[in-house]
Amino acid sequence: MKGKTANLAIVSNNNLPAKKSNKLLHQHNIVNALQTTLEFDRLITIFSEKIESLIPHSGCIYVNEEFDIEIELGSKAHHSCSYTLTIEEKQLGNLKLMRRNRFTHEELQFLETLLSYLVYPLNNASSLKQAINQAHIDPLTKTSNRAAFDSTVSREISLALRNDNSLSAIFLDIDHFKSINDDFGHACGDMVLSVTAKLIKQCARDSDLIFRYGGEEFVLLLSNTDLTGAKRLAERIRKKLEHHTLAFNMDAIKVTASLGIATLRANDNMESFIQRADNAMYQAKEQGRNQVSFES
Ligand code: GH3
Ligand code: MG
Ligand code: MG
Repeated sequence: MKGKTANLAIVSNNNLPAKKSNKLLHQHNIVNALQTTLEFDRLITIFSEKIESLIPHSGCIYVNEEFDIEIELGSKAHHSCSYTLTIEEKQLGNLKLMRRNRFTHEELQFLETLLSYLVYPLNNASSLKQAINQAHIDPLTKTSNRAAFDSTVSREISLALRNDNSLSAIFLDIDHFKSINDDFGHACGDMVLSVTAKLIKQCARDSDLIFRYGGEEFVLLLSNTDLTGAKRLAERIRKKLEHHTLAFNMDAIKVTASLGIATLRANDNMESFIQRADNAMYQAKEQGRNQVSFES
């Protein structure tokens, strides 16, 4: 009997560290795999796959409101556990695991350890995304910049053509902007640019994309918007600028702009589409400024 117990003890002693080291190896694997990417969807996919044998689950949902990300993997189920992921008070989103049967207390405790391996890579992914977003923002007007426009416009064109949706572009150029700089100084010119951007934003919808295209030129990309809708918005912006008086020190400054509209055609590419909006804007300049013109 004594021998038997001793034997059993030996068996169990051999087994426990083996199980433990297996688990540790697995955890080590998870940490390594999570270091291979800085993309949110890859990180969540890797995490879900790698923890599957440790915490079985049928699906998971990751939501990050800051970057407007929602990743849904596998299938939904009745039981779930949900974690808000943070690092030094920085929000890194919310992760929810689901399955048919309840998660045990031990599983949830272990999951917390596993999640601690996910937060650092998520933080790196978040910093990279913030840096990319920052590189696409014009610091003066807080609108998207030319680099953002270049990387967005071809995607918007192919999306619209593929889904047979309308897409319009409005080019806006501030009238006689050089004389504002000359008469009131560069700081006043800068203020005019940032106020103009603010007024454009007030007229546009959330889904309208606004870019500072160059010095005193802005461009708007309007998805699901035909010529009639684009004309309406362009005229609203023109009037808003015309009726706004800017105060700079003791001076009252009036600003107007010329706007040109193009609507996407089936045989368009990026150059032809932009060129038509640009031509229409120059037509508005030639016809006397402070007006909206559209492609012929
Ligand atoms: P038009 O009515 O024909 O458009 O005349 P304009 O004076 O607006 O056009 P022009 O292209 O001759 O002048 C644009 C000016 O915009 C010249 C440039 O110095 C100024 N500018 C470009 N970027 C900035 C900026 O970031 N800040 C300021 N203050 N001025 C800028
Ligand atoms: Mg110009
Ligand atoms: Mg101008």
